[in-house]
Amino acid sequence: MSAKPRPAIRPAPRPAPPPSTPEDLNPFRFARRQFERAADHLGLDPGTREVLGNPKRQLIVSIPVKMDDGSIRCFQGYRVQHSIARGPSKGGIRYHPGVTLDEVKALAMWMTWKCAVVNIPFGGAKGGITVDPKALSLAENERMTRRFTSEISIILGADRDIPAPDVYTNSQTMAWMMDTFSMTKGYSTLGVVTGKPLSVGGSAGRNEATAEGCFVAIEEAAKRMSLSLKGATAAVHGFGNAGSFAAKFLDEAGARIVAVSDTQGGVYDKKGLSVSNLFATKEKKGTVTAVKGDAISNEELLELPVDILVPAALEGVITRANASRIKAKIVAEAANGPTTPDADDVLHKKGIVVIPDILANAGGVTVSYFEWVQDLYSFFWEPDMVRTHLQRTIRRSYADVEAMARKHDTDLRTGALVLAVNRVEEATRIRGIFP
Ligand code: NAD
Repeated sequence: MSAKPRPAIRPAPRPAPPPSTPEDLNPFRFARRQFERAADHLGLDPGTREVLGNPKRQLIVSIPVKMDDGSIRCFQGYRVQHSIARGPSKGGIRYHPGVTLDEVKALAMWMTWKCAVVNIPFGGAKGGITVDPKALSLAENERMTRRFTSEISIILGADRDIPAPDVYTNSQTMAWMMDTFSMTKGYSTLGVVTGKPLSVGGSAGRNEATAEGCFVAIEEAAKRMSLSLKGATAAVHGFGNAGSFAAKFLDEAGARIVAVSDTQGGVYDKKGLSVSNLFATKEKKGTVTAVKGDAISNEELLELPVDILVPAALEGVITRANASRIKAKIVAEAANGPTTPDADDVLHKKGIVVIPDILANAGGVTVSYFEWVQDLYSFFWEPDMVRTHLQRTIRRSYADVEAMARKHDTDLRTGALVLAVNRVEEATRIRGIFP
């Protein structure tokens, strides 16, 4: 690594892959491809690419759990810390049958870039357990969560690595994690996780923060395209924490939510769905497919001719296979990694504005940062204060990303990555390589 500032280098045009080659959907490899694009723009040397392109630390743990029927099952869990160059590592915990080490590595890397895009003093991490949490009782889930926390506690801490909720984990999971960590210390350590309930050191606005940040980013994109949100049409893929509140914010702004989906499929109504009914039905029946409207598949939802598409479920849903059929004007990535690099190129050519995950869903980690600050100071903010700072952070970051994309003559994703990788590279270079 050199101590001198690096000249900006224009990368060679990306060669199109031969159409017959199947697309590599491994999330870590496509996260690496995204990183390499930014590294090309920045002219990073091979050594720096190796440092920034790989996680700092990977922990794999076995989690034995006593099941309600007396049997014992053993689950596999992970905690990956990608970088701590700019501060303690930060990132969610996912419970899903599809969790793999490579997925967690990709998510940890994206967390590093996300924290750098919004310029908060964290590195990136992620954790997960390969499990179907819907098949567990609440008591089994609690025992699994507590044992997992104990197993990974050797690398956690308010000044080390701070988890938060992700797919199929929530504020209750975070309360159990905080309590387990605290019990082994002998005192309460509120700042060890974020996304906690308000009664145990959570922040106002954290539950809706990911979606609120996504909505603010959509507002910024729409303003630049002279697209009025009032009367605009929107489809939301994945009606969970991020997706449901994104639908709510869009609805409140006057947009028409024409379709939403979850694991069981989707529902479509061209006149617009009632968002309060979607919330109530999801709560009562466990799926949005129970709402009145036309049945639609998850795949069909992604291809609807809407103004705004919000992928809010899992990674790798917009690929080379369906990118040419995406018709939305704005794709706002509430989910992490929903669009593959090949699909990105297709959407960019079609003139679709993709608000990349590391900007579009950064509202969650931004308010997690506020929560951590509040926990450390034991002084809690009014909801207005959280919202004001969140909105300001996302609007400023959108402008920073856009300026970087313009400077490098590229799309918003690569602009965001160049901004982030440059900040992380600078911190890494200034700190130097130990010893
Ligand atoms: P969640 O568990 O609250 O919701 C996930 C939703 O996706 C559920 O409605 C589920 O039914 C649906 N889903 C799952 N698999 C699906 C599939 N194959 N097809 C269609 N729908 C499917 O999770 P969440 O916290 O909202 O996370 C969703 C995405 O947002 C993830 O990519 C996550 O990493 C990202 N994200 C979440 C946060 C946060 O604060 N929760 C922050 C940043 C990014």
